[in-house]
Order: sequence, then C-alpha cells, then structure tokens
Amino acid sequence: MKLYDECFAGLHEILKKNPAKKLVWPAVKWNGTDKNKIIFQSDAAFELGGANLPAISSVAFTDDPDLVPADEILLIGNDLADLNGDSPFARIAMIRVNEDEMGTGERLYQTIRRIEYARYHIHPEGYMMRISAFTHREAARVARDALAKGLSFAHVGAFLIEEYKKQPQVEAVKLLFVTADGFPYDTLEKVMEKSESITTALDHIMRDIKMDCRTCSLKTVCDEVEALCGKA
Ligand code: SF4
Repeated sequence: MKLYDECFAGLHEILKKNPAKKLVWPAVKWNGTDKNKIIFQSDAAFELGGANLPAISSVAFTDDPDLVPADEILLIGNDLADLNGDSPFARIAMIRVNEDEMGTGERLYQTIRRIEYARYHIHPEGYMMRISAFTHREAARVARDALAKGLSFAHVGAFLIEEYKKQPQVEAVKLLFVTADGFPYDTLEKVMEKSESITTALDHIMRDIKMDCRTCSLKTVCDEVEALCGKA
C-alpha cells in the first residue's frame, strides 16, 4: 500500500521537528452516548478548532509495520485538562491494514470509506465532534462537566481506535492529536492533501464521474489509484 507513502514521509519529518508524547492507554473506558448528543455553548469549556482556528483531520493507510507498529495515542501540545480556552486542533489517524484484505476496485473503495467513517460512529460523553465533509474540518466541543470528570485525549483516542479496529482489515492505529500553539498546521495540511486527493480520485473512478481528466490537477494521483484498483 504505497499510495500514502508521501503522507507518511511528511508526517515523519513533522514529528522529527515537533516531538509527540505517547499517552498512556486509559485504564477505564470513558462512557459513550448513543448519538452525538449536543453540547450547548453555555455548557462547553472550549472548542478544539473552533471559529477560524485550524481544525485538521486526515487519515493515511499503510501495510508496513515499521510505520505503524502498534496501537498508540500521541499528543503534541496540551491535553484537554491543560487547555485554557479555544485551541487549534489536528487529528491524524495512521492506520496499518492487511493489504490482502483490502481488496481492489469497488471493494477497496468501500473498505477505505468504511474505515474513514469510523469517526462518525464514536460519541464519547462530553466530546462533540463537529465534522464538515465538505471543508474537511474536524472541530470538537468539550463539555465542562466532562473535563471535571477527567476526560482526556487518551479516552477519545481509545474510542476512535476501537472503532477503526472493528473493520477486520485494520491491524493497528497510530493516532496523533495536536493542540500546540506555533505548530506548523499549514505544513501538516499540505502533507495530508495527498490523502484527500486519493479519496477524491477513488470517488471519481468508482462513481464514473465524467470530467475532463486531461486538465485535472489530480491526474497523477488518479493514475496511481487506478493502478491499485486494477482499472488501469
Ligand atoms: S483525473 Fe479525472 S477521474 Fe481522476 S480525479 Fe481528476 S477528473 Fe476525477
């Protein structure tokens, strides 16, 4: 699964310059709610990626155990308890999959989609994700009472990893959260652009959307995706 290698190389560079700390896996699972329960502004302590602050979310797949050796939750910046107000935010999921199980063509497309959609299925109590599929922003509102009870990124990360791993193709997940001021959010966004391009290309190829490919800036990515899908 070489498609996302550029993303991993870029992430490696960013992590070299901005070391992340590894969070301890929570001893007790945080409570979840059935649906995305609304947290009103009056009950919120702060927002991650609110207003005009960075709110980046992306995903990269690999089958290489050197890139994603095991489940891990990483953090650059302050954990939820140490944030004093709205904060810039990024969440990147690096996912190791069993390539043979991913399939090709339509099956590959559906598998990638199902894994990406895990984020719509988690509802930790006191943590309301606000996802825009259109702008690719992922912000979150954090409730005051959840903070008082000790909600942390380790809890949210454990929820997400558990959800990703419900898909049989997923072997391990390295999850990175970022809240640091001064972090190069625009560089991270640029690095992960390739991941968004892959999703767009897959979407066009599988839905047979008729566009002028000769003038499309995603042509190179699209050719790589088509080769992987067995359509080239
Ligand atoms: S090259 Fe063609 S199919 Fe691929 S993303 Fe661009 S317009 Fe869509």
